[in-house]
Amino acid sequence: MSIGKSTKIYVAGHRGLVGSAVLRHLTRLGYTNLLFRTHSELDLTDQSAVSTFFTTHKPDYVILAAAKVGGIHANATYPADFLTINLQIQTNIITSSVSHNVKKLVFLGSSCIYPKFAPQPIPESALLTGPLEPTNEWYAIAKISGIKMCEAYKIQNKFNAISLMPTNLYGPNDNFHPENSHVLPGLLRRFHEAKMKQDVKVVVWGSGSPLREFLHVDDLADAVVFCMEEYDGLEHVNVGSGKEVSIKELAELVKEVVGFEGEIVWDGTKPDGTPRKLMDSSKLAKMGWEAKTSLKDGLVETYKWYVENVKQ
Ligand code: GDP
Repeated sequence: MSIGKSTKIYVAGHRGLVGSAVLRHLTRLGYTNLLFRTHSELDLTDQSAVSTFFTTHKPDYVILAAAKVGGIHANATYPADFLTINLQIQTNIITSSVSHNVKKLVFLGSSCIYPKFAPQPIPESALLTGPLEPTNEWYAIAKISGIKMCEAYKIQNKFNAISLMPTNLYGPNDNFHPENSHVLPGLLRRFHEAKMKQDVKVVVWGSGSPLREFLHVDDLADAVVFCMEEYDGLEHVNVGSGKEVSIKELAELVKEVVGFEGEIVWDGTKPDGTPRKLMDSSKLAKMGWEAKTSLKDGLVETYKWYVENVKQ
């Protein structure tokens, strides 16, 4: 289904990794009627403020990319915030979308909704088949509730909502914190700083053998718009690149992209985590969508963004 370029689309969470990529992509595609609000302009945990926003602006489509996110440490320290804030944000936006007759809502989740010991590659059907990874279960429970809320309103009110579950994302506006970030932005920063200081070595955690799948956030944004335009099914959909790399291969690629000339030293005292994490994205592939950005090209582009924005 094609959507007119003047259709009013509300992107919730437009300053985050995903929301900012969706906004860039919609702009690039020529969509002209885009709605977004900063946190200080609209508190998404405030039910009446969200309802008033929908009454005033009447969006036709909604992309729900707003969430409280964070790493293991943040999840362990603020479990109540991760559960409550995410439930509030998504409940307010989904219920307002239903009552204001939004044509379609795209809800964004994450691969952490799946059980810790799900089969690899992880199919959509693995949802709710086993215990979650305890370190992020608060966030995961909120996201699972969001998927189920979308399904429930589809069944009860014929509300058109779809949920996308992306694999490990990277790109502009990621968190490049030295200790609290995920591996890809963490390594980009560490290799960059080592190059600037002319260090002779960079320490990378673990054995290097775990396998991970990475998706450039611009590819996710492309999938979001593709599903907004084309997909009306009931069940949630995985979004991955389908390409696995070992942490060792990733470290070598980051070293090459950054242009660091020293050596990589492996710190075996740091945990490897799960040996493999890959999504089964065949459902989306059958619908005709695939990721376009190679890991090398995505790293080159993300590194360029990091260097230009590192001072902030
Ligand atoms: P995970 O995919 O949930 O395990 O999350 P991470 O992105 O934090 O870690 C992925 C893998 O990269 C693990 O095997 C880590 O041990 C390894 N790794 C290597 N160096 C780093 C680093 O500097 N930061 C992080 N976060 N992980 C690293």
